[in-house]
Amino acid sequence: METNKPDIRQLTEEALSAFFKEHGEQAFRGRQVYEWLWKKGSTSFEEMSNLSKETRKFLSENFSIPRLNIHSKQTSRDGTIKFTFKTHDGHLTESVLIPSGSRITACVSSQVGCKLNCTFCATGKIPFKRNLSQAEIFDQILTVKNKANKLYNLSLSNIVYMGMGEPLLNYGDVKASIKLIASEKSLGFSPRRVTLSTIGLPEKIKKLADDQITFNLAVSLHSAMDETRTRLIPINKQYNLESLKKALEYFNKNTGKRITFEYLMINGINDSIAEAKALAEYCKNFPVKINLIEYNTTGDPAFQKPDPQKLNEFKVFLESKNLVVNVRRSRGDDIDAACGQLSGRIK
Ligand code: SAH
Repeated sequence: METNKPDIRQLTEEALSAFFKEHGEQAFRGRQVYEWLWKKGSTSFEEMSNLSKETRKFLSENFSIPRLNIHSKQTSRDGTIKFTFKTHDGHLTESVLIPSGSRITACVSSQVGCKLNCTFCATGKIPFKRNLSQAEIFDQILTVKNKANKLYNLSLSNIVYMGMGEPLLNYGDVKASIKLIASEKSLGFSPRRVTLSTIGLPEKIKKLADDQITFNLAVSLHSAMDETRTRLIPINKQYNLESLKKALEYFNKNTGKRITFEYLMINGINDSIAEAKALAEYCKNFPVKINLIEYNTTGDPAFQKPDPQKLNEFKVFLESKNLVVNVRRSRGDDIDAACGQLSGRIK
């Protein structure tokens, strides 16, 4: 729904208070409205029950609350749920709720589409439209959080910025969204349970270190050999493994944080022992945890799932080098909700 009224969620709490004062109301109304917007996730002024009828009407005459609306919802046989949202300007974006045992993870998008064009990824095949705002990222998180409570009777335990898009190309809004949800005036969600996943943009990784982030960093490495990595991730030509390594060293030195490497296992492409050796060598420079992820097919015959035996040999080799390795199996792949399958396609 397009409207000409300004989006009230563009206003800080201070600006809301100032607005009320200007209009002869008490400033604490600002905090009340702020909490309706960012704690309770109000979709209309009508529901702001501690405000007078007149105030609610006045607000609705002056502002709008353009929220992400659920466009469709699909549930996988493994309990994973994919939400497709429609933005106020008509774009589709996606989030995934991933239950596993007593934990529930929300996987959220940071952009509509993606500019990176990684050859193996479905999101890269749809055109980039725009960045998502802090409020749009918040809406995804709040929706998944409420659904986790309602459908699984569990509180959201983790948030991963691993949906559509490259979060570090939307640095400001992504970082602001993590700060916002951490606030007690919002969801009070600890940044230690938030992970941002990036393709590995060196300058932005250094900025994360300078900004002393308290959330976790994961890097989609997928190969520690430049030739293979460039084949998978074109931007590796510009930011090669050496420049990424320098940035990660800087990050670790300045934050003391361990880095997670996501390593997609793709049949015959990056699953050899030579690749495992290069990876082990690359990991010597800072403390890491490696997540080996089985490739999810996206319809392109060039990229296939790994052979289970090869995956195991790869893992055993890394472990013989004293590296921490987890194997991640795909979730929600029957509804195209798995990593790399988010493309606005609704099954
Ligand atoms: N741009 C960021 C955030 C997206 S995260 C990043 O690259 O990290 C999405 C994760 O899913 C990335 O690790 C990506 O490499 C991985 N992925 C992409 N396509 C995949 C596929 N077909 N199967 C499994 N994982 C895939």
